[in-house]
Amino acid sequence: MLSIFCAPARYVQGRDATAALGSEMKKLGLEGVALVVASRTPAKLLAGAWERSFAAAGIGHAVYRFGGECSRAEIERGKAAAREVKATVIVGAGGGKVLDAARAIAADLDLPVVNCPTVASSDAPCSALSVVYGEDGAFESYLFYRRNPDLVLVDTAVIAASPRRLLVAGMGDALATWFEAETVVAARKANQVGGATTQSASALARLCYETLLRDGRAACDALAAKAVTPALERLVEANTLLSGLGFESGGLAVAHSVHNGLTTAPPTHAFLHGEKVAFGLVVQLVLEGKPDALLDEVLSFASDVGLPTRLDDLDLGDASPEVIDRIAIRATAPGETAHNEPFPVDAAVLADALRAADARARAWHDRRG
Ligand SMILES: [Zn+2]
Repeated sequence: MLSIFCAPARYVQGRDATAALGSEMKKLGLEGVALVVASRTPAKLLAGAWERSFAAAGIGHAVYRFGGECSRAEIERGKAAAREVKATVIVGAGGGKVLDAARAIAADLDLPVVNCPTVASSDAPCSALSVVYGEDGAFESYLFYRRNPDLVLVDTAVIAASPRRLLVAGMGDALATWFEAETVVAARKANQVGGATTQSASALARLCYETLLRDGRAACDALAAKAVTPALERLVEANTLLSGLGFESGGLAVAHSVHNGLTTAPPTHAFLHGEKVAFGLVVQLVLEGKPDALLDEVLSFASDVGLPTRLDDLDLGDASPEVIDRIAIRATAPGETAHNEPFPVDAAVLADALRAADARARAWHDRRG
């Protein structure tokens, strides 16, 4: 198997980075007309900054208001909007689903894409894949693209004003990155781009975990003060760039499969991707028989920042055995990354791991009081 590493062509991050959007695009030759796919809050908050930045760079733009779910129907609506304004580049501005949709629209129309995450809530912005959901919010499939985004631009002044829960969800997604990559390497399985994991991807995934442990708590405090601080900058980079490169070129395992399984249980639709991944990570670590000290480290961090680690935290405290089985069956469906473990994982094994992880996390919380 060949080793493969991929990344966005350019990554830009910092306070008021939006002001540099047009000029950064121009440096990459992304000119003409930009269709900005944006959800409501960023569209309101950033309209003026986009106006000035695009005008200064001589780039035309139109804003398409995102419908709320990255579904096939929404992707088609976005494509129609892009054709209408003869867009030459797609710019996504918003949370994970907006960016997923922007990438899908751009890929279908064979246009370059720029991602401007306005929350640091997932590892998606740097990747060359989207998660597609049904109109009902259940996980449907991954879409893989030929290229990573041409530009990822993160305005940390915007992130500093974003809801704490979204930043914390991004930490949940990022918390799993190193462990999933490590598993893929141990099992000699393929990463998300069909290659063996490079040392570079492993090192970035490890730095991702270390940055969370060091800066995650302080970043929450910075957010509470709506302040851009060095800890917040590093944490945003971990959630967005390190986790993004780490999961895609490192690889995924049980944690993300558990996320996909959880989406079959309607109560979890109220929870964010990274929140479900955080619980999925506890399942993975228990399934892999990791040492107590490591589990305690992960549970302590998760609890400090407010990530779910028990079924009850995901409103599944009274889930029936049938619900658990359904989650386990979905999480171990053919093609799922649960099969990237170095040992066979079937639905029965995974259902036990779900229950055991829940019990382990409850016991930890009881001990801590
Ligand atoms: Zn993820």
